[in-house]
Amino acid sequence: MVRARRTNRSVFYRVKCPDCENEQIVFEKASTSVECLVCGRILAEPTGGKVTLTGEKLAEYQ
Ligand SMILES: [Zn+2]
Repeated sequence: MVRARRTNRSVFYRVKCPDCENEQIVFEKASTSVECLVCGRILAEPTGGKVTLTGEKLAEYQ
């Protein structure tokens, strides 16, 4: 099995909403605010290329 080598690594976070405990995936380089799909709370905000998480980070995927 051959794996494609990526030069651009995308990082994703699994974030838990502090208000309703919904878990969702947030892209590290999101260009807009990420809202909780359940209650609408802001979970991440874009700051200079990377997002700042306002929810609880549970895991990180690369
Ligand atoms: Zn929520």
